[in-house]
Amino acid sequence: MDVHTIDCHYADLPKVAAAYLLVDGDEAAFVETCTSRSLPHLLGALADAGLTREQVRYVVITHIHLDHAGGAGALMAACPNATLLAHPKAAPHAVDPSRIVAGATTVYGDQRFAELYGEVTPIAAPRVRALEDEAEVPFGRGVLRFLHTRGHANHHFVVVAPNADAVFTGDAFGIQYPRLQSHGVFAFPSTSPTDFDAAAAHEAVDRIVGTGMGRAFPTHFGEQRELDAIAAQLHSLLDEHSAILEEADAADLQGPALDSFCQERVAAVFRDHVEHAGLTGHPGTALLELDIDLNAQGISFALAKRRYKRQRA
Ligand SMILES: [Zn+2]
Repeated sequence: MDVHTIDCHYADLPKVAAAYLLVDGDEAAFVETCTSRSLPHLLGALADAGLTREQVRYVVITHIHLDHAGGAGALMAACPNATLLAHPKAAPHAVDPSRIVAGATTVYGDQRFAELYGEVTPIAAPRVRALEDEAEVPFGRGVLRFLHTRGHANHHFVVVAPNADAVFTGDAFGIQYPRLQSHGVFAFPSTSPTDFDAAAAHEAVDRIVGTGMGRAFPTHFGEQRELDAIAAQLHSLLDEHSAILEEADAADLQGPALDSFCQERVAAVFRDHVEHAGLTGHPGTALLELDIDLNAQGISFALAKRRYKRQRA
């Protein structure tokens, strides 16, 4: 099986979000779709590989976040024989994306939403297949296998392709921007809203390494071969993110005080990580600013959720 890495030019940035084209014999599958604005890149990769749109058997989304699944409707419309494969909690949103769109529009505003994501279109329910944990589907001369992985999102799975010695990890095996790999592995977890769960995220990392695959393909971005080194960095940074949450909880921080505490502490964690990797002053570190914001927001959100549950108990 061949794996082609496609740069989706998410937010008009190079090598930030990938989609993958899997080819085995006369069958193709896409893993991730990025947004509808990425469609020309995806179809271009298919044509470059010498395949037709009719040969696409599956479109797979690791989870419903829009930089992974926002373009699924557009890609499914272009590939008439494809079935969309999704986590059971993601599948309903692929059929009716209105809640996801409303949520993201609230965060970004109408104009920025349109710039980032273009149009998010629904997919007819009979073309969507939800896959339980450890499900397998036939593909080419082998199978694709699906493992549910919470921690980053409750509607997240990873895709194991034994014939390619590969696991497609979505956001469950952290983020590795190519620009920041110049001094060795530089990986960090995404703890963005609204489902961050540190214990589940640790488990997901172990489950991915436990597949025994030699190559990981995170959506952000591209083929990785040093899975153990990545896992070690993710475990350590997840502990640090989780310590921020515990400290904020113990100090009973609320509202803006909580938000700025998380922001400052996450920024400090990233500063140390960058320094430790010898990347201080590297221009690529500007990419991290958005992730720092999102990770801080995810911790605030997780604490608010924990308090709500505690109150109701
Ligand atoms: Zn995500």
